[in-house]
Amino acid sequence: MPDNKYSVLFEPVKIGPVTARNRFYQVPHCCGMGHVRPQAHAAMRAMKAEGGWAVVSTEETEIHPTSDLSPYAEQRLWDERDIPALRLMTDAVHDRGALTAIELVHNGNHAQNLLSRGPVLAPSDMSLAIAYPKQARAMDKTDIRAFRRWHRDAARRAKQAGFDIIYVYAGHRMTLTQHFLLPEYNDRTDEYGGSLENRTRLIRELLEETHEEVGDTCAVAFRFAVDEMMGAEGMQAQEEGCAVVEMLAEVPDIWDVNVSDWANDSATTRFEPNDGYQTPYIEFVKQMTSKPVVAVGRLTSADMMVSMVKRGIVDFIGAARPSIADPFLPEKIRSDRTEEIRECIGCNICVSSDTMGIPIRCTQNPTMGEEWRRNWHPEKIEPKGVEETALVIGAGPAGLECAMQLARRGYQVTLAEAGQELGGRAAREAQLKGLGAWRRVADHRIYDLQQRANVQTFMDSRLSAADVIELGIPNVFVATGARWRSDGVGRSSRRPAEISPAMAVLTPDDIMDGKVPGPGPLVIYDDDQAYLAGVIAEHLAEAGCNITFVTPASVVSPFTEYTLEQERIQRSLLEKGVDIVIGHKLISAQNGRCDLGCIYTGKIRTVDCATLLPVTERFRQCDLYNELQNSPESGLQTLELIGDAAMPGLIADAVYAGHMTARNFEMNPQKVAQQLFRREIISLENA
Ligand code: ADP
Ligand code: SF4
Repeated sequence: MPDNKYSVLFEPVKIGPVTARNRFYQVPHCCGMGHVRPQAHAAMRAMKAEGGWAVVSTEETEIHPTSDLSPYAEQRLWDERDIPALRLMTDAVHDRGALTAIELVHNGNHAQNLLSRGPVLAPSDMSLAIAYPKQARAMDKTDIRAFRRWHRDAARRAKQAGFDIIYVYAGHRMTLTQHFLLPEYNDRTDEYGGSLENRTRLIRELLEETHEEVGDTCAVAFRFAVDEMMGAEGMQAQEEGCAVVEMLAEVPDIWDVNVSDWANDSATTRFEPNDGYQTPYIEFVKQMTSKPVVAVGRLTSADMMVSMVKRGIVDFIGAARPSIADPFLPEKIRSDRTEEIRECIGCNICVSSDTMGIPIRCTQNPTMGEEWRRNWHPEKIEPKGVEETALVIGAGPAGLECAMQLARRGYQVTLAEAGQELGGRAAREAQLKGLGAWRRVADHRIYDLQQRANVQTFMDSRLSAADVIELGIPNVFVATGARWRSDGVGRSSRRPAEISPAMAVLTPDDIMDGKVPGPGPLVIYDDDQAYLAGVIAEHLAEAGCNITFVTPASVVSPFTEYTLEQERIQRSLLEKGVDIVIGHKLISAQNGRCDLGCIYTGKIRTVDCATLLPVTERFRQCDLYNELQNSPESGLQTLELIGDAAMPGLIADAVYAGHMTARNFEMNPQKVAQQLFRREIISLENA
């Protein structure tokens, strides 16, 4: 155990029949791998065990074909044939000294059963949670008995697969057990409906039966959402949430508590800026039970963790996103290297992977999801080859990450940035309302670069091709970014809008440079349809602008449905008095107005406009790269274009590109070309 101010975090803690080596607990989280990519999944979880987590959990694990979440890649334990894939994880995690937990789930009306075509089950008759013309049927007593048997059987299989902690799960508004608990879903009149005791009956039965089935060697965890953050409209911690904890206090071996729904539990920093934001909801739990408690809420500060343990709020520091951003977080705290932690920025790009059905990605940690398929390690990288020096041009997320990894490999790195500060778009976007935490992308990398003797950083240094040639560094990585265009060309319109030269036009870059729109109505035209236009609208609405938000999409910022923010964004804009015009594209802007065309009928609608702010597409800044490419006399051995200058995308994409480029530099080109990445090809024998 370390002898530092964090040593309390490294005390072992007993959970029923098993003991965790310390207090760091990776709670269940989705990752877009699940049963579809079992080797990638095992390697990703194992990395966290290597990084010091004491408990490493799966994502939700379907127990039966009536809880079929296809096409999403969650975990699956329908029958014995699913055991070997899960065994990969338990073996790999155990080899690295951690316990494994499995989150068994039945998703009720949240499961579409599109693959299995089984009946959808719920406490009462109701629609599916997603818009699909199918209904869930109210479970009769036979269904309930069958469900209890499926859960018991799945617990037994989980034990066979090697898990140490087995979950009963009632949270996120996505689980059958929680649906029984909530009056909104449960209008039964039998012993499973009505009073709170009746609505809790099924959970109690599952907890007791899981104990009976596997409790001799496995701990039984209860993941419970104590508050739905809906006020009197939903479950509240101070009322029924608290009563449930009181009723079941000693039944599970560990309480894993959080808030519901998923958007609240995984709230972004844009809407929940404070790390530890769930504490006020869950802090009562430990007073009501002698069993250990684990809780979450973006806990990244080691001091806050110590205080939460010492104040008797939790026994375990729970983490989903902080364990994704930095799988080695416990190890860094143990060895008193807290300043090296890659802090989660709360952007939910990791969540978007799962909601899009692709393997997990992370803005801060580009190795996340690549542990198996590319053999990337978050803390290790190959030492350099024969080359000695490298020049990185542009210190945005791509350039910073590239420079940092090249420096780690041992090159003499020169980093040149045109601006007065480092960070590029990570620093610029962080100035906008709600995105302050995004600065962490830059801060982490700048700190790292500052510690290294083999890095020289120059600000206020806009390099020309002649400068680059004069510097004489043969390996050049160009990360010069992209700038927002102002002509309206975007997703819905490949031709510029008719914009009169007399019309005041601002771009997102102008706003980030501190320009403010003049008086009169401002039209924000969003054909990027991601997050930035919505952020700028909020930012400028707070500054008092009178805004009409126009988009060809059918909702504001549709990409943010994947990051679980869309509803909050649209609500917030409406509450701030922003006029929202959906389903229209920009045709022209002149004479104090914009003409908008309906995307279905072409019918024109006019809105007042003194200033137009299009958020549509970006121009790649690759003049320098092109010039160098066309200068045979430059003598460069390596010239690569990376990040937004090569492909405008998310900050996560720019970081990833910087990382990949640094890793691949001086690697055998054939190997790099061949090894796109390993894939998990389904074996036909497993039919
Ligand atoms: P990315 O997301 O790809 O990292 P950014 O736009 O965030 O891209 O960052 C690009 C950075 O490159 C900006 O900080 C910009 O000032 C800098 N830059 C652009 N052109 C030059 C140049 N010729 N010399 C030095 N820095 C440059
Ligand atoms: Fe945190 Fe964003 Fe990484 Fe998710 S993607 S772990 S929210 S930094």
